[in-house]
Amino acid sequence: MNTFKTTLITCQQCGRRIMVRAADAERGTIACSHIGCGIVNNLRTDFHYDEAVVNGLPSFGSLTYLENPETKFDLRFGPNVIGTGNLCTVRIDRFEHDGRCFISRQHCTLTVTFDKWTGKLRYHIQDGALDADTQSMRYSLNGTMRNGTPLLKTEIIDVSDGDIITLGGADRFRLTTATIPLPTLATYKVDLAFNPDRTQ
Ligand SMILES: [Zn+2]
Repeated sequence: MNTFKTTLITCQQCGRRIMVRAADAERGTIACSHIGCGIVNNLRTDFHYDEAVVNGLPSFGSLTYLENPETKFDLRFGPNVIGTGNLCTVRIDRFEHDGRCFISRQHCTLTVTFDKWTGKLRYHIQDGALDADTQSMRYSLNGTMRNGTPLLKTEIIDVSDGDIITLGGADRFRLTTATIPLPTLATYKVDLAFNPDRTQ
């Protein structure tokens, strides 16, 4: 891959032009040649993805109720408060077992975020939800589990595609995550530093 052509970049400190040769690009750094400057410029091709990519996505995944797989609950970007209460972003039916429902009104919070370095959606879950009045967490009565392991209060853990989330020890949901198509992602790539292919 020795297609590198000698090129000019703008010094990150003094703003004057510096000649970059293949050896500099290979090393990944170049010291500014101008008198009175001399700082080392980073030539690595760093990039991230613009979070605006999430605005156009058709889906952020869903939870499938395992006792009746036709029942699905869509997730949205950001925090999803899951429970039987009216104010929940993911409002679950009052599933009853021998006449009792074990899911709290605000049972747990599943948050979807965007990792700008990998371009992937990330999912994490915690028991309870933030109380709007007191601005503190209120936990569920009967607890939340991931793949059969109870979450500790105050614990925030990552969840992945196919993970089973159990609410109140009785109702199981399978997480289906969403992925961003690579061609879509590519159009939101942001170069952060020197890229010889794009410098004249
Ligand atoms: Zn300089």
